[in-house]
Amino acid sequence: MTFATLSSFFAKLEGITSRLAITEVLADLFSSASSTEIAILCYLSLGRLAPLYEPLEFQLAEKMIIRVIGQAFNVSEDRVRETYKEVGDLGEVAEKLKVKSEKLKVIATTRSSKLSMLEVYGRLRKIAEENGEGSQQRKIEGLVLLLHELDSVSCKYVVRMVLGRLRLGFSDVTILDALSWMKTGTKTLRPRLEQAYFVRADIGAIAALFKKKGVSGLSGIAAKLGVPVMPALCQRLKSPQEMIAKMGRVAVEPKYDGQRVQIHWAKRKGQSAKGKAKGVFLRAFTRNLEEVSFMFPELGRITADLSAREVILDSEAVSYDTSSGKILPFQEIITRKRKHAILEAAAKVPLRFFVFDILYKDGRSLLHLPLSNRAALLEQTLAGGKVLMKTERIVTEDPNVLRQFHAKQLTAGLEGAVVKKWNAPYSPGRRGWSWVKYKEAEERTAGLSDTLDCVVMGYYRGRGKRASFGIGGFLVGIPKGGHFVTISKIGTGLSDEQWKELRLRADRLAVSDKPKEYGDIGKTLAPDIWTRPSLVVEIAADNITRSPVHSAGLALRFPRLVRFRDDKGPGQATTMAEVSTLYQLQGK
Ligand code: ATP
Repeated sequence: MTFATLSSFFAKLEGITSRLAITEVLADLFSSASSTEIAILCYLSLGRLAPLYEPLEFQLAEKMIIRVIGQAFNVSEDRVRETYKEVGDLGEVAEKLKVKSEKLKVIATTRSSKLSMLEVYGRLRKIAEENGEGSQQRKIEGLVLLLHELDSVSCKYVVRMVLGRLRLGFSDVTILDALSWMKTGTKTLRPRLEQAYFVRADIGAIAALFKKKGVSGLSGIAAKLGVPVMPALCQRLKSPQEMIAKMGRVAVEPKYDGQRVQIHWAKRKGQSAKGKAKGVFLRAFTRNLEEVSFMFPELGRITADLSAREVILDSEAVSYDTSSGKILPFQEIITRKRKHAILEAAAKVPLRFFVFDILYKDGRSLLHLPLSNRAALLEQTLAGGKVLMKTERIVTEDPNVLRQFHAKQLTAGLEGAVVKKWNAPYSPGRRGWSWVKYKEAEERTAGLSDTLDCVVMGYYRGRGKRASFGIGGFLVGIPKGGHFVTISKIGTGLSDEQWKELRLRADRLAVSDKPKEYGDIGKTLAPDIWTRPSLVVEIAADNITRSPVHSAGLALRFPRLVRFRDDKGPGQATTMAEVSTLYQLQGK
Protein backbone atom coordinates (compact mmCIF):
# COMPACT_ATOMS: atom_id res chain seq x y z
CA MET A 1 0.00 0.00 0.00
CA THR A 2 1.30 3.47 -0.84
CA PHE A 3 1.09 6.32 1.64
CA ALA A 4 -0.91 8.24 -0.99
CA THR A 5 -3.57 5.51 -0.86
CA LEU A 6 -3.73 5.80 2.93
CA SER A 7 -4.07 9.58 2.59
CA SER A 8 -7.00 9.18 0.22
CA PHE A 9 -8.71 7.05 2.88
CA PHE A 10 -7.97 9.74 5.48
CA ALA A 11 -9.58 12.32 3.18
CA LYS A 12 -12.67 10.13 2.86
CA LEU A 13 -12.87 9.60 6.63
CA GLU A 14 -12.50 13.28 7.30
CA GLY A 15 -15.53 14.04 5.16
CA ILE A 16 -17.98 11.73 6.95
CA THR A 17 -19.66 11.99 10.31
CA SER A 18 -21.80 8.87 10.54
CA ARG A 19 -20.08 6.35 12.75
CA LEU A 20 -21.34 3.46 10.64
CA ALA A 21 -19.96 5.04 7.47
CA ILE A 22 -16.60 5.58 9.20
CA THR A 23 -16.61 1.93 10.27
CA GLU A 24 -17.22 0.80 6.70
CA VAL A 25 -14.45 2.95 5.22
CA LEU A 26 -12.01 1.76 7.88
CA ALA A 27 -13.01 -1.84 7.21
CA ASP A 28 -12.28 -1.25 3.52
CA LEU A 29 -8.88 0.16 4.39
CA PHE A 30 -8.09 -2.81 6.65
CA SER A 31 -9.23 -5.29 3.97
CA SER A 32 -6.72 -3.94 1.52
CA ALA A 33 -3.84 -4.22 4.00
CA SER A 34 -1.50 -7.11 4.78
CA SER A 35 -1.19 -8.32 8.38
CA THR A 36 2.08 -6.39 8.73
CA GLU A 37 0.48 -3.22 7.38
CA ILE A 38 -2.69 -3.38 9.41
CA ALA A 39 -0.94 -2.83 12.77
CA ILE A 40 0.70 0.33 11.47
CA LEU A 41 -2.56 1.50 9.89
CA CYS A 42 -4.26 1.29 13.29
CA TYR A 43 -1.63 3.49 14.90
CA LEU A 44 -1.48 6.00 12.04
CA SER A 45 -5.23 6.41 11.76
CA LEU A 46 -5.30 7.31 15.46
CA GLY A 47 -2.63 9.91 14.67
CA ARG A 48 0.12 7.92 16.40
CA LEU A 49 3.20 5.90 15.58
CA ALA A 50 2.83 3.34 18.34
CA PRO A 51 0.24 1.92 20.72
CA LEU A 52 -1.43 4.49 22.98
CA TYR A 53 0.69 3.48 25.96
CA GLU A 54 4.04 4.08 24.23
CA PRO A 55 5.11 7.66 24.79
CA LEU A 56 6.58 8.18 21.31
CA GLU A 57 6.00 11.79 20.27
CA PHE A 58 7.55 13.96 17.55
CA GLN A 59 8.59 16.75 19.92
CA LEU A 60 8.45 19.39 17.21
CA ALA A 61 6.75 22.66 18.12
CA GLU A 62 4.51 24.55 15.70
CA LYS A 63 7.32 27.07 15.13
CA MET A 64 9.54 24.28 13.83
CA ILE A 65 6.85 22.94 11.52
CA ILE A 66 6.49 26.43 10.04
CA ARG A 67 10.21 26.32 9.35
CA VAL A 68 9.92 22.84 7.80
CA ILE A 69 7.11 23.94 5.47
CA GLY A 70 9.06 27.04 4.44
CA GLN A 71 12.16 25.04 3.63
CA ALA A 72 10.28 22.24 1.90
CA PHE A 73 8.45 24.54 -0.49
CA ASN A 74 11.02 27.26 -0.75
CA VAL A 75 8.94 30.09 0.72
CA SER A 76 9.65 32.41 3.63
CA GLU A 77 8.44 31.56 7.12
CA ASP A 78 6.44 34.80 7.10
CA ARG A 79 4.59 33.61 4.04
CA VAL A 80 3.83 30.29 5.75
CA ARG A 81 2.51 32.17 8.77
CA GLU A 82 0.31 34.39 6.61
CA THR A 83 -1.24 31.43 4.83
CA TYR A 84 -1.69 29.75 8.22
CA LYS A 85 -3.64 32.77 9.41
CA GLU A 86 -5.86 32.54 6.35
CA VAL A 87 -6.65 28.83 6.43
CA GLY A 88 -6.15 28.05 10.13
CA ASP A 89 -4.51 24.66 9.68
CA LEU A 90 -0.85 23.99 8.96
CA GLY A 91 -1.71 20.72 7.22
CA GLU A 92 -3.74 22.62 4.65
CA VAL A 93 -0.96 25.18 4.34
CA ALA A 94 1.46 22.40 3.41
CA GLU A 95 -1.03 20.96 0.92
CA LYS A 96 -1.60 24.34 -0.76
CA LEU A 97 2.06 25.22 -0.98
CA LYS A 98 2.90 21.78 -2.33
CA VAL A 99 0.36 22.15 -5.16
CA LYS A 100 1.69 25.61 -5.97
CA SER A 101 5.34 24.61 -5.89
CA GLU A 102 4.67 21.66 -8.17
CA LYS A 103 2.92 23.92 -10.67
CA LEU A 104 5.79 26.37 -10.59
CA LYS A 105 8.24 23.46 -10.66
CA VAL A 106 10.00 24.94 -7.62
CA ILE A 107 10.74 21.41 -6.52
CA ALA A 108 11.07 18.27 -8.55
CA THR A 109 8.66 15.53 -7.51
CA THR A 110 10.40 12.44 -8.70
CA ARG A 111 8.86 9.79 -6.47
CA SER A 112 5.58 11.51 -5.78
CA SER A 113 2.81 9.11 -4.67
CA LYS A 114 5.10 6.10 -4.95
CA LEU A 115 6.35 5.98 -1.38
CA SER A 116 4.96 2.98 0.42
CA MET A 117 3.02 3.43 3.64
CA LEU A 118 5.59 1.30 5.46
CA GLU A 119 8.50 3.39 4.21
CA VAL A 120 6.86 6.66 5.26
CA TYR A 121 6.03 5.12 8.63
CA GLY A 122 9.67 4.04 9.08
CA ARG A 123 10.88 7.53 8.25
CA LEU A 124 8.36 9.20 10.56
CA ARG A 125 9.43 6.87 13.35
CA LYS A 126 13.06 7.73 12.78
CA ILE A 127 12.22 11.43 12.96
CA ALA A 128 10.30 10.94 16.22
CA GLU A 129 13.06 8.83 17.75
CA GLU A 130 15.87 11.33 17.03
CA ASN A 131 17.16 12.67 20.30
CA GLY A 132 20.18 14.30 21.84
CA GLU A 133 22.36 17.04 20.47
CA GLY A 134 21.34 18.34 17.04
CA SER A 135 18.20 16.24 17.03
CA GLN A 136 15.85 19.16 16.25
CA GLN A 137 17.87 19.90 13.12
CA ARG A 138 17.86 16.24 12.05
CA LYS A 139 14.11 16.08 12.62
CA ILE A 140 13.60 19.17 10.47
CA GLU A 141 15.79 17.81 7.67
CA GLY A 142 14.06 14.44 7.72
CA LEU A 143 10.65 16.05 7.51
CA VAL A 144 11.62 18.51 4.74
CA LEU A 145 12.83 15.59 2.65
CA LEU A 146 9.64 13.67 3.26
CA LEU A 147 7.44 16.61 2.23
CA HIS A 148 9.48 16.90 -0.95
CA GLU A 149 8.73 13.34 -1.87
CA LEU A 150 5.07 13.10 -0.89
CA ASP A 151 2.01 14.20 -2.85
CA SER A 152 0.07 17.23 -1.64
CA VAL A 153 -2.71 15.38 0.21
CA SER A 154 -0.14 13.21 2.01
CA CYS A 155 1.77 16.36 3.01
CA LYS A 156 -1.39 17.63 4.69
CA TYR A 157 -1.84 14.50 6.81
CA VAL A 158 1.84 14.10 7.67
CA VAL A 159 1.99 17.67 8.96
CA ARG A 160 -1.16 17.17 11.06
CA MET A 161 0.22 13.93 12.43
CA VAL A 162 3.54 15.48 13.44
CA LEU A 163 1.63 18.26 15.21
CA GLY A 164 -0.54 15.69 16.98
CA ARG A 165 -3.61 17.05 15.20
CA LEU A 166 -4.69 14.30 12.84
CA ARG A 167 -8.03 13.75 14.59
CA LEU A 168 -10.19 11.88 12.15
CA GLY A 169 -13.06 11.80 14.62
CA PHE A 170 -12.96 8.21 15.88
CA SER A 171 -11.20 6.25 18.57
CA ASP A 172 -9.88 2.75 19.19
CA VAL A 173 -13.45 1.54 19.81
CA THR A 174 -14.40 2.29 16.18
CA ILE A 175 -11.29 0.44 15.04
CA LEU A 176 -12.54 -2.65 16.86
CA ASP A 177 -15.89 -2.32 15.09
CA ALA A 178 -14.12 -1.92 11.75
CA LEU A 179 -12.03 -5.05 12.33
CA SER A 180 -15.19 -7.03 12.94
CA TRP A 181 -16.76 -5.45 9.83
CA MET A 182 -13.73 -6.41 7.75
CA LYS A 183 -14.35 -10.13 8.42
CA THR A 184 -18.12 -10.34 8.76
CA GLY A 185 -19.75 -7.18 7.37
CA THR A 186 -21.26 -6.69 10.85
CA LYS A 187 -20.15 -5.59 14.33
CA THR A 188 -20.83 -9.01 15.85
CA LEU A 189 -17.19 -9.80 16.63
CA ARG A 190 -16.66 -6.52 18.47
CA PRO A 191 -17.15 -8.04 21.98
CA ARG A 192 -14.54 -10.76 21.25
CA LEU A 193 -12.12 -8.17 19.89
CA GLU A 194 -12.73 -5.89 22.84
CA GLN A 195 -12.10 -8.72 25.25
CA ALA A 196 -8.71 -9.37 23.66
CA TYR A 197 -7.89 -5.65 23.47
CA PHE A 198 -8.70 -5.18 27.15
CA VAL A 199 -6.25 -7.94 28.05
CA ARG A 200 -3.51 -6.61 25.77
CA ALA A 201 -4.09 -2.93 25.07
CA ASP A 202 -2.12 -2.81 21.82
CA ILE A 203 -4.65 -2.21 19.05
CA GLY A 204 -2.07 -2.87 16.30
CA ALA A 205 -1.03 -6.24 17.73
CA ILE A 206 -4.68 -7.30 18.10
CA ALA A 207 -5.49 -6.22 14.53
CA ALA A 208 -2.49 -8.11 13.09
CA LEU A 209 -3.38 -11.31 14.93
CA PHE A 210 -7.02 -11.04 13.93
CA LYS A 211 -6.18 -10.37 10.28
CA LYS A 212 -3.91 -13.39 10.16
CA LYS A 213 -5.81 -15.94 12.21
CA GLY A 214 -9.34 -14.61 12.66
CA VAL A 215 -11.21 -15.16 15.91
CA SER A 216 -9.14 -18.22 16.80
CA GLY A 217 -6.08 -15.92 16.96
CA LEU A 218 -7.74 -13.97 19.76
CA SER A 219 -8.31 -16.86 22.12
CA GLY A 220 -4.61 -17.17 22.91
CA ILE A 221 -4.30 -13.55 24.09
CA ALA A 222 -3.08 -13.38 27.68
CA ALA A 223 -1.50 -10.70 29.86
CA LYS A 224 1.94 -9.77 28.61
CA LEU A 225 4.69 -8.05 30.54
CA GLY A 226 5.19 -4.49 29.28
CA VAL A 227 1.75 -4.18 27.64
CA PRO A 228 -0.93 -2.72 29.92
CA VAL A 229 -4.05 -4.66 30.83
CA MET A 230 -7.14 -2.43 30.85
CA PRO A 231 -7.66 -1.93 34.60
CA ALA A 232 -10.74 -3.52 36.15
CA LEU A 233 -13.21 -0.85 37.29
CA CYS A 234 -16.08 -0.70 39.72
CA GLN A 235 -19.81 -0.79 39.22
CA ARG A 236 -22.32 0.78 41.58
CA LEU A 237 -24.97 -0.86 43.73
CA LYS A 238 -27.15 0.75 46.30
CA SER A 239 -26.72 -1.30 49.45
CA PRO A 240 -24.58 -4.00 51.10
CA GLN A 241 -27.58 -6.35 50.89
CA GLU A 242 -27.72 -5.93 47.14
CA MET A 243 -23.97 -6.43 46.88
CA ILE A 244 -24.09 -9.74 48.71
CA ALA A 245 -27.21 -10.82 46.81
CA LYS A 246 -25.49 -10.15 43.50
CA MET A 247 -21.96 -11.32 44.30
CA GLY A 248 -22.25 -13.86 47.11
CA ARG A 249 -18.99 -14.25 48.97
CA VAL A 250 -16.94 -11.06 48.66
CA ALA A 251 -13.57 -9.62 49.56
CA VAL A 252 -13.85 -6.11 51.00
CA GLU A 253 -10.91 -3.72 50.85
CA PRO A 254 -10.35 -0.07 51.73
CA LYS A 255 -10.89 2.30 48.80
CA TYR A 256 -7.71 4.36 48.85
CA ASP A 257 -7.93 7.80 47.30
CA GLY A 258 -4.82 8.05 45.21
CA GLN A 259 -3.81 7.13 41.70
CA ARG A 260 -4.26 3.76 40.05
CA VAL A 261 -0.90 2.31 38.99
CA GLN A 262 -0.34 -0.96 37.17
CA ILE A 263 3.21 -2.07 37.84
CA HIS A 264 5.10 -4.25 35.34
CA TRP A 265 8.35 -5.43 36.85
CA ALA A 266 11.00 -8.04 36.04
CA LYS A 267 14.44 -8.87 37.30
CA ARG A 268 16.40 -8.69 34.08
CA LYS A 269 19.89 -8.04 32.98
CA GLY A 270 20.55 -5.25 30.51
CA GLN A 271 16.90 -4.20 30.14
CA SER A 272 16.93 -1.06 32.17
CA ALA A 273 15.42 1.98 30.52
CA LYS A 274 17.30 5.25 30.87
CA GLY A 275 17.38 6.54 34.41
CA LYS A 276 15.79 3.42 35.84
CA ALA A 277 17.22 0.95 38.32
CA LYS A 278 19.86 -1.30 36.77
CA GLY A 279 19.02 -4.89 35.95
CA VAL A 280 15.33 -4.27 36.30
CA PHE A 281 12.55 -3.95 33.73
CA LEU A 282 9.96 -1.47 34.95
CA ARG A 283 6.86 0.08 33.47
CA ALA A 284 4.04 1.79 35.34
CA PHE A 285 0.69 2.57 33.70
CA THR A 286 -2.14 4.83 34.83
CA ARG A 287 -5.76 3.75 34.42
CA ASN A 288 -5.59 5.77 31.24
CA LEU A 289 -2.74 3.52 30.00
CA GLU A 290 -0.16 6.27 30.12
CA GLU A 291 3.36 5.07 30.90
CA VAL A 292 4.38 7.03 33.99
CA SER A 293 7.28 5.18 35.60
CA PHE A 294 9.23 8.48 35.44
CA MET A 295 6.79 9.85 38.02
CA PHE A 296 7.61 7.19 40.58
CA PRO A 297 11.31 6.92 41.46
CA GLU A 298 10.15 4.86 44.48
CA LEU A 299 9.44 1.94 42.13
CA GLY A 300 13.17 1.59 41.55
CA ARG A 301 13.35 0.12 45.07
CA ILE A 302 10.71 -2.60 45.01
CA THR A 303 12.96 -5.60 44.35
CA ALA A 304 13.28 -6.28 48.06
CA ASP A 305 9.48 -6.30 48.43
CA LEU A 306 8.95 -9.03 45.85
CA SER A 307 9.47 -12.72 45.64
CA ALA A 308 9.20 -13.32 41.86
CA ARG A 309 11.15 -13.08 38.61
CA GLU A 310 8.46 -11.02 36.89
CA VAL A 311 5.07 -9.67 37.87
CA ILE A 312 2.21 -7.40 36.87
CA LEU A 313 0.61 -5.86 39.94
CA ASP A 314 -2.48 -3.70 40.33
CA SER A 315 -2.17 -0.99 42.95
CA GLU A 316 -3.22 2.42 44.20
CA ALA A 317 -0.42 4.93 44.82
CA VAL A 318 -1.06 7.15 47.80
CA SER A 319 0.99 9.83 49.48
CA TYR A 320 2.03 8.70 52.87
CA ASP A 321 3.18 10.56 55.92
CA THR A 322 5.96 8.29 57.17
CA SER A 323 6.00 9.74 60.67
CA SER A 324 2.28 9.41 61.39
CA GLY A 325 1.65 6.48 59.04
CA LYS A 326 -1.30 8.46 57.66
CA ILE A 327 -2.46 8.60 54.08
CA LEU A 328 -2.49 12.12 52.61
CA PRO A 329 -4.99 13.60 50.16
CA PHE A 330 -4.92 12.75 46.46
CA GLN A 331 -3.84 16.22 45.42
CA GLU A 332 -0.28 15.54 46.59
CA ILE A 333 0.39 13.12 43.73
CA ILE A 334 -0.64 15.60 41.10
CA THR A 335 2.40 17.74 41.92
CA ARG A 336 4.45 15.01 40.26
CA LYS A 337 3.15 15.96 36.83
CA ARG A 338 5.94 18.45 36.51
CA LYS A 339 8.89 16.33 35.53
CA HIS A 340 11.61 18.47 37.07
CA ALA A 341 9.97 18.49 40.49
CA ILE A 342 9.63 14.73 40.81
CA LEU A 343 12.72 13.91 42.85
CA GLU A 344 11.97 16.78 45.17
CA ALA A 345 8.37 15.60 45.54
CA ALA A 346 9.47 12.00 46.13
CA ALA A 347 11.67 13.15 48.98
CA LYS A 348 9.04 15.45 50.48
CA VAL A 349 5.89 13.40 49.98
CA PRO A 350 6.88 9.76 49.58
CA LEU A 351 4.41 7.42 47.94
CA ARG A 352 3.35 3.95 48.92
CA PHE A 353 1.69 1.52 46.57
CA PHE A 354 -1.16 -0.45 48.10
CA VAL A 355 -1.16 -3.61 46.00
CA PHE A 356 -4.55 -5.30 45.69
CA ASP A 357 -4.15 -7.70 42.77
CA ILE A 358 -1.67 -9.76 40.79
CA LEU A 359 -2.32 -10.24 37.07
CA TYR A 360 0.77 -12.11 35.93
CA LYS A 361 3.65 -13.92 37.52
CA ASP A 362 6.78 -15.60 36.13
CA GLY A 363 5.53 -16.14 32.59
CA ARG A 364 1.95 -17.03 33.55
CA SER A 365 -1.13 -14.88 33.04
CA LEU A 366 -3.38 -15.05 36.12
CA LEU A 367 -6.38 -13.14 34.83
CA HIS A 368 -8.58 -16.22 34.47
CA LEU A 369 -8.06 -17.35 38.10
CA PRO A 370 -10.65 -16.54 40.76
CA LEU A 371 -9.75 -13.70 43.12
CA SER A 372 -9.37 -16.21 45.96
CA ASN A 373 -6.45 -17.83 44.06
CA ARG A 374 -4.93 -14.54 42.95
CA ALA A 375 -5.07 -13.27 46.52
CA ALA A 376 -3.17 -16.36 47.71
CA LEU A 377 -0.55 -15.90 44.98
CA LEU A 378 -0.23 -12.23 45.85
CA GLU A 379 0.30 -13.15 49.48
CA GLN A 380 3.19 -15.46 48.45
CA THR A 381 4.68 -12.84 46.14
CA LEU A 382 4.50 -9.72 48.22
CA ALA A 383 6.86 -9.59 51.13
CA GLY A 384 5.58 -6.04 51.51
CA GLY A 385 7.45 -3.43 53.37
CA LYS A 386 9.08 -0.30 52.18
CA VAL A 387 7.32 0.72 49.00
CA LEU A 388 4.78 -1.98 48.15
CA MET A 389 2.18 -2.39 50.86
CA LYS A 390 -0.31 -5.15 51.47
CA THR A 391 -3.95 -4.15 51.10
CA GLU A 392 -6.11 -4.94 54.08
CA ARG A 393 -8.92 -7.33 53.18
CA ILE A 394 -11.76 -9.22 54.80
CA VAL A 395 -13.83 -11.95 53.17
CA THR A 396 -17.51 -12.15 54.06
CA GLU A 397 -21.04 -13.03 53.01
CA ASP A 398 -22.67 -10.89 55.67
CA PRO A 399 -24.01 -7.42 54.72
CA ASN A 400 -23.55 -6.25 58.31
CA VAL A 401 -19.86 -7.14 58.36
CA LEU A 402 -19.51 -5.33 55.06
CA ARG A 403 -21.24 -2.26 56.45
CA GLN A 404 -19.01 -2.22 59.53
CA PHE A 405 -15.82 -2.54 57.50
CA HIS A 406 -16.99 0.33 55.31
CA ALA A 407 -17.80 2.54 58.30
CA LYS A 408 -14.32 1.83 59.70
CA GLN A 409 -12.76 3.12 56.45
CA LEU A 410 -14.75 6.34 56.61
CA THR A 411 -13.67 6.88 60.20
CA ALA A 412 -10.07 6.40 59.10
CA GLY A 413 -10.60 9.19 56.55
CA LEU A 414 -10.71 6.97 53.47
CA GLU A 415 -13.21 7.12 50.62
CA GLY A 416 -15.05 3.94 51.42
CA ALA A 417 -14.61 0.32 50.38
CA VAL A 418 -14.24 -1.74 47.25
CA VAL A 419 -16.25 -4.95 47.25
CA LYS A 420 -15.00 -7.79 45.04
CA LYS A 421 -16.57 -11.09 44.12
CA TRP A 422 -14.35 -13.71 45.72
CA ASN A 423 -14.65 -16.34 43.01
CA ALA A 424 -14.51 -14.04 39.97
CA PRO A 425 -11.67 -13.80 37.46
CA TYR A 426 -9.98 -10.41 36.85
CA SER A 427 -12.32 -8.61 34.50
CA PRO A 428 -10.55 -5.79 32.60
CA GLY A 429 -12.59 -2.64 31.97
CA ARG A 430 -15.98 -1.90 33.51
CA ARG A 431 -17.94 -5.07 32.91
CA GLY A 432 -19.83 -7.66 34.89
CA TRP A 433 -20.38 -7.43 38.61
CA SER A 434 -17.05 -8.50 40.00
CA TRP A 435 -16.06 -5.16 41.59
CA VAL A 436 -18.42 -2.67 43.20
CA LYS A 437 -17.56 0.55 45.00
CA TYR A 438 -19.20 1.45 48.27
CA LYS A 439 -18.65 5.13 48.97
CA GLU A 440 -21.71 6.47 50.72
CA ALA A 441 -21.77 6.80 54.50
CA GLU A 442 -25.24 5.29 54.66
CA GLU A 443 -27.59 4.16 51.95
CA ARG A 444 -28.92 7.58 51.10
CA THR A 445 -32.56 8.38 50.89
CA ALA A 446 -32.04 11.25 48.49
CA GLY A 447 -29.45 12.72 46.19
CA LEU A 448 -26.59 11.57 44.05
CA SER A 449 -24.32 8.90 45.48
CA ASP A 450 -21.21 9.59 43.40
CA THR A 451 -19.39 12.21 41.40
CA LEU A 452 -19.26 12.11 37.59
CA ASP A 453 -16.19 12.34 35.40
CA CYS A 454 -17.21 14.51 32.45
CA VAL A 455 -15.51 15.72 29.28
CA VAL A 456 -15.15 19.47 28.71
CA MET A 457 -16.72 20.21 25.31
CA GLY A 458 -16.27 23.95 25.19
CA TYR A 459 -16.56 27.16 27.16
CA TYR A 460 -18.48 30.44 27.24
CA ARG A 461 -16.77 33.80 27.45
CA GLY A 462 -17.09 35.50 30.80
CA ARG A 463 -19.32 38.36 31.70
CA GLY A 464 -19.14 40.61 34.76
CA LYS A 465 -16.43 39.79 37.25
CA ARG A 466 -15.07 36.90 35.26
CA ALA A 467 -14.72 38.83 32.02
CA SER A 468 -11.09 39.29 32.94
CA PHE A 469 -10.54 35.51 32.89
CA GLY A 470 -12.22 35.27 29.48
CA ILE A 471 -14.34 32.37 30.70
CA GLY A 472 -17.64 32.41 32.53
CA GLY A 473 -18.94 28.90 32.11
CA PHE A 474 -18.30 25.62 30.38
CA LEU A 475 -20.17 22.78 28.77
CA VAL A 476 -19.54 19.18 29.80
CA GLY A 477 -20.65 15.88 28.38
CA ILE A 478 -20.29 12.14 28.71
CA PRO A 479 -19.60 9.34 26.23
CA LYS A 480 -22.52 7.52 24.66
CA GLY A 481 -21.62 4.95 22.01
CA GLY A 482 -18.98 6.59 19.85
CA HIS A 483 -20.29 10.09 20.57
CA PHE A 484 -20.44 12.58 23.42
CA VAL A 485 -23.73 13.91 24.73
CA THR A 486 -24.07 17.08 26.78
CA ILE A 487 -25.19 16.86 30.40
CA SER A 488 -24.40 20.15 32.09
CA LYS A 489 -23.52 23.79 31.66
CA ILE A 490 -21.42 24.84 34.64
CA GLY A 491 -21.03 28.45 35.64
CA THR A 492 -20.41 28.51 39.37
CA GLY A 493 -18.45 26.80 42.09
CA LEU A 494 -14.93 27.39 40.75
CA SER A 495 -12.25 29.39 42.51
CA ASP A 496 -10.53 32.17 40.55
CA GLU A 497 -7.52 29.88 40.20
CA GLN A 498 -9.66 27.09 38.80
CA TRP A 499 -11.27 29.41 36.24
CA LYS A 500 -7.85 30.54 35.08
CA GLU A 501 -6.53 27.03 34.87
CA LEU A 502 -9.61 25.81 33.02
CA ARG A 503 -9.29 28.60 30.47
CA LEU A 504 -5.61 27.77 29.93
CA ARG A 505 -6.27 24.08 29.49
CA ALA A 506 -9.33 24.61 27.31
CA ASP A 507 -7.49 27.00 25.00
CA ARG A 508 -4.92 24.31 24.30
CA LEU A 509 -7.76 22.11 23.08
CA ALA A 510 -9.71 24.77 21.18
CA VAL A 511 -10.93 23.90 17.69
CA SER A 512 -12.65 26.15 15.18
CA ASP A 513 -15.65 23.90 14.51
CA LYS A 514 -17.76 21.64 16.66
CA PRO A 515 -16.01 18.23 16.74
CA LYS A 516 -18.06 15.68 14.85
CA GLU A 517 -18.19 13.33 17.85
CA TYR A 518 -20.49 15.85 19.57
CA GLY A 519 -23.53 15.20 17.35
CA ASP A 520 -26.49 17.59 17.47
CA ILE A 521 -26.33 20.22 20.18
CA GLY A 522 -29.06 22.78 20.74
CA LYS A 523 -28.25 26.41 19.86
CA THR A 524 -28.75 27.58 23.44
CA LEU A 525 -25.95 25.30 24.57
CA ALA A 526 -23.38 26.00 21.85
CA PRO A 527 -20.29 27.38 23.56
CA ASP A 528 -18.29 30.34 22.25
CA ILE A 529 -15.20 28.15 22.03
CA TRP A 530 -15.38 24.46 21.20
CA THR A 531 -12.75 22.15 22.60
CA ARG A 532 -11.86 18.70 21.34
CA PRO A 533 -12.70 15.84 23.73
CA SER A 534 -9.67 15.44 25.95
CA LEU A 535 -9.99 17.21 29.30
CA VAL A 536 -11.81 15.26 32.00
CA VAL A 537 -13.22 16.97 35.09
CA GLU A 538 -14.80 15.43 38.15
CA ILE A 539 -18.19 17.02 38.82
CA ALA A 540 -20.28 16.76 41.95
CA ALA A 541 -23.99 17.56 41.82
CA ASP A 542 -27.02 17.38 44.06
CA ASN A 543 -29.20 15.41 41.68
CA ILE A 544 -29.65 14.17 38.17
CA THR A 545 -32.84 15.39 36.55
CA ARG A 546 -34.56 14.78 33.22
CA SER A 547 -33.69 17.40 30.62
CA PRO A 548 -35.21 18.31 27.26
CA VAL A 549 -32.25 20.57 26.54
CA HIS A 550 -29.20 18.35 26.99
CA SER A 551 -28.52 15.63 24.46
CA ALA A 552 -28.02 13.13 27.31
CA GLY A 553 -31.71 13.61 28.11
CA LEU A 554 -30.52 14.16 31.68
CA ALA A 555 -28.91 17.11 33.40
CA LEU A 556 -27.03 17.82 36.63
CA ARG A 557 -28.61 19.94 39.33
CA PHE A 558 -26.22 22.30 41.17
CA PRO A 559 -23.10 21.00 39.45
CA ARG A 560 -19.66 21.96 40.77
CA LEU A 561 -16.09 21.17 39.83
CA VAL A 562 -14.30 18.83 42.24
CA ARG A 563 -10.99 18.50 40.40
CA PHE A 564 -9.28 17.99 37.08
CA ARG A 565 -8.91 14.27 36.37
CA ASP A 566 -5.53 14.15 34.66
CA ASP A 567 -5.44 10.42 35.21
CA LYS A 568 -8.42 9.94 32.91
CA GLY A 569 -8.96 10.40 29.20
CA PRO A 570 -12.34 10.89 27.51
CA GLY A 571 -12.59 7.11 27.12
CA GLN A 572 -12.60 6.77 30.91
CA ALA A 573 -15.26 9.36 31.60
CA THR A 574 -18.50 8.24 33.26
CA THR A 575 -20.62 6.75 30.48
CA MET A 576 -24.26 7.38 29.60
CA ALA A 577 -25.12 3.90 30.86
CA GLU A 578 -23.48 4.62 34.23
CA VAL A 579 -25.22 7.98 34.55
CA SER A 580 -28.55 6.28 33.85
CA THR A 581 -27.76 3.84 36.66
CA LEU A 582 -26.87 6.73 38.98
CA TYR A 583 -30.13 8.41 38.03
CA GLN A 584 -32.04 5.29 38.99
CA LEU A 585 -30.02 4.75 42.18
CA GLN A 586 -30.65 8.20 43.57
CA GLY A 587 -33.48 8.50 46.02
CA LYS A 588 -36.12 10.60 44.29
P1 ATP B 1 -13.74 7.49 41.83
O1 ATP B 1 -14.02 8.60 40.86
O2 ATP B 1 -14.92 7.10 42.65
O3 ATP B 1 -12.48 7.65 42.58
P2 ATP B 1 -13.00 6.14 39.60
O4 ATP B 1 -13.97 6.71 38.66
O5 ATP B 1 -11.60 6.66 39.57
O6 ATP B 1 -13.55 6.22 41.04
P3 ATP B 1 -13.96 3.57 39.96
O7 ATP B 1 -14.11 2.44 39.01
O8 ATP B 1 -15.18 4.22 40.36
O9 ATP B 1 -12.95 4.60 39.37
O10 ATP B 1 -13.20 3.07 41.28
C1 ATP B 1 -12.09 2.27 41.13
C2 ATP B 1 -10.86 3.04 41.51
O11 ATP B 1 -10.68 3.02 42.91
C3 ATP B 1 -9.67 2.33 40.97
O12 ATP B 1 -9.39 2.79 39.68
C4 ATP B 1 -8.57 2.67 41.94
O13 ATP B 1 -7.89 3.80 41.48
C5 ATP B 1 -9.29 3.01 43.22
N1 ATP B 1 -9.04 2.05 44.32
C6 ATP B 1 -8.71 2.39 45.58
N2 ATP B 1 -8.60 1.33 46.37
C7 ATP B 1 -8.86 0.24 45.61
C8 ATP B 1 -8.91 -1.15 45.88
N3 ATP B 1 -8.69 -1.65 47.08
N4 ATP B 1 -9.20 -1.97 44.85
C9 ATP B 1 -9.46 -1.47 43.62
N5 ATP B 1 -9.43 -0.16 43.31
C10 ATP B 1 -9.14 0.70 44.30
